[in-house]
Amino acid sequence: MCVFCQIINKQVPAHIVYEDDKVISFLDIEPIREGHVLIVPKLHVDSLDKLPDDMIAGVMRVAKKVVVAHREIYGNEGYSMMQNGGKYCDFGHAHFHVFPRYDSDGFGFNYPEGESEYSEKVAAKIIEKLI
Ligand SMILES: [Zn+2]
Repeated sequence: MCVFCQIINKQVPAHIVYEDDKVISFLDIEPIREGHVLIVPKLHVDSLDKLPDDMIAGVMRVAKKVVVAHREIYGNEGYSMMQNGGKYCDFGHAHFHVFPRYDSDGFGFNYPEGESEYSEKVAAKIIEKLI
């Protein structure tokens, strides 16, 4: 059983900040900064597309509450929310990071060298799959 399932089953302690029948949220053990929480659906799958829609909606409802709480506590100007899927999903259990952001925090995406293709062709390929 993965560590997130163990936290859900209360076999491993965590600083839980929210819980309902579909979702649990607790402090990240290695926070990017104070307030960094994980929002974890109560289903062991490694990818967003494997989650039922009501569970995804549950994650987003909790994310909205966390964003408001962060702003009230820290006065941050914004936030970031991230999720890694498939082989990049730690512990094989989908989870969503939410943390406050500040102008001077230095957080950002690092892009590989070289040009990325950014075009109508790329958009068209994705649109075809989304329809
Ligand atoms: Zn799990």
